Amino acid sequence: MDCIFCKIAAGQIPAKVVYEDEFCLAFHDIAPQAPVHVLLIPKKHIVSAANLAEEDAEIASRLLLAVPKVAKLLPLEEGFRVVSNVGENGGQTVPHLHFHILGGSKLSAVMA
Ligand code: 5GP
Ligand code: ZN
Repeated sequence: MDCIFCKIAAGQIPAKVVYEDEFCLAFHDIAPQAPVHVLLIPKKHIVSAANLAEEDAEIASRLLLAVPKVAKLLPLEEGFRVVSNVGENGGQTVPHLHFHILGGSKLSAVMA
């Protein structure tokens, strides 16, 4: 599978991992857009939120449930933002579903 995030999930490309369970992996973004910028991915290759299917119900819930766990580990108790870019117009550059978890400072209210 020629996918950067699948390779990170398989340990073939190094990443600064902050959280891992059976379904998900969270690691620091290589080009942080905020003081804390972590990417949370499913270990299964799913292209984007637009490609989630009924059979992914457990993965989808596990991903959301991992958000507070990652936030606690970083820590981000003063708040954070969760963003998932989808497709061309959404600005997605890596076609493997991921949530950006951003924080560590007061973020701008405007979404680009
Ligand atoms: P997107 O633009 O698809 O929403 O987000 C992709 C993110 O993946 C970007 O923020 C980019 O910096 C990050 N990224 C791309 N390649 C790598 C990599 O090899 N390692 C890590 N840790 N992050 C990456
Ligand atoms: Zn992948």
